[in-house]
Amino acid sequence: MEKNKWRMLCEECKEIKIIKEPDMGQYTSFKAGGRAALLVLPDNQEELRRVLEYMSGEELPYMILGNGSNLLVRDGGYEGAMIKLGEGFHNIEANRKTGLLTAGANVSMSQVARVAVDAGLAGFEPLSGIPGTLGGALYMNAGAYDGEMSFVVQEALVMNRNCGETRIVPKEEMGLSYRRSAFQESGDVILQVTLQLTPGDSKKIEDKVMEFTRKRNEKQPMNYPSAGSFFKRPEGYFAGKLITDAGLKGLKLGGAQVSSLHAGFLINTGEATAEDILLLMKVVQRTVADRFGVELEPEVRIIGKE
Ligand SMILES: Cc1cc2nc3c(=O)[nH]c(=O)nc-3n(C[C@H](O)[C@H](O)[C@H](O)COP(=O)(O)OP(=O)(O)OC[C@H]3O[C@@H](n4cnc5c(N)ncnc54)[C@H](O)[C@@H]3O)c2cc1C
Repeated sequence: MEKNKWRMLCEECKEIKIIKEPDMGQYTSFKAGGRAALLVLPDNQEELRRVLEYMSGEELPYMILGNGSNLLVRDGGYEGAMIKLGEGFHNIEANRKTGLLTAGANVSMSQVARVAVDAGLAGFEPLSGIPGTLGGALYMNAGAYDGEMSFVVQEALVMNRNCGETRIVPKEEMGLSYRRSAFQESGDVILQVTLQLTPGDSKKIEDKVMEFTRKRNEKQPMNYPSAGSFFKRPEGYFAGKLITDAGLKGLKLGGAQVSSLHAGFLINTGEATAEDILLLMKVVQRTVADRFGVELEPEVRIIGKE
């Protein structure tokens, strides 16, 4: 039944790029997992609106895909469409006088950092190495090294997932807290984000970015596919330390492993299935709960069928 609806979507939106049954291992940083029904790549707001209208009208499931760096699709696949914003969401502009930097949701965090350095705008440096898109980072309220999206965001342009209307959401209405945003409930699609940064010296800003990159490369297993820190930080603890203290560092199940460099990372050593990763997740959660009475909650978004 739904297959027919997907076929209709492909026919009705012929000019929009659509990939059938994409292998989500190719679109996620874990390099593991099943297929989605479709990957839809609208190039501009109008195309996105048409796709959203069709999906809501037909009650078809879908989710927005950024860079897939915080996402795991179970091996049985996702029976919905992944919508990845395309070319029209790559704009970026910085104004040194006002300190404002505005960029499309699909711009990578590293590119935002590059433009901020060139414009002499400070404040984004701690976030520069997060391997996601600006939209994904706002949705997750991503953070690193005492920085967080909530510290720099000013407003966002979003599209309502049901009616396709666009509106500006000021920071105060974003409900930002540790790895949370109101977008996780509303399902609004983030189209563009404006950051309030501070004018500074380009060279000093660049030095800071390089310092954070060096720290990341030293402390994190950058050579293996992963989704970064797998678990949220439990209040009063560090997930990586609890996992290390539970003696789980380096534990391997199938192709999945608790990184021996940073125990907060679950990595794909090459041939991991999503099931390997999720089994390892459960072993880690159970052991840490038994040993320390702390429940580890995944930060990674897990979707799809077993
Ligand atoms: C090596 C490594 C290091 C990492 N380090 C950090 C770190 O230091 N700090 C940190 O916080 N995270 C870190 N992460 C996790 C990840 O990079 C962040 O969560 C990032 O913000 C996810 O962005 P993304 O574009 O990849 O989103 P995706 O993984 O594609 O999606 C994540 C969620 O955001 C939603 N989403 C994406 N774009 C939009 C949009 N435009 N509109 C609405 N919803 C959207 C998706 O639907 C999904 O629910 C790391 C990951 C890796 C692999």
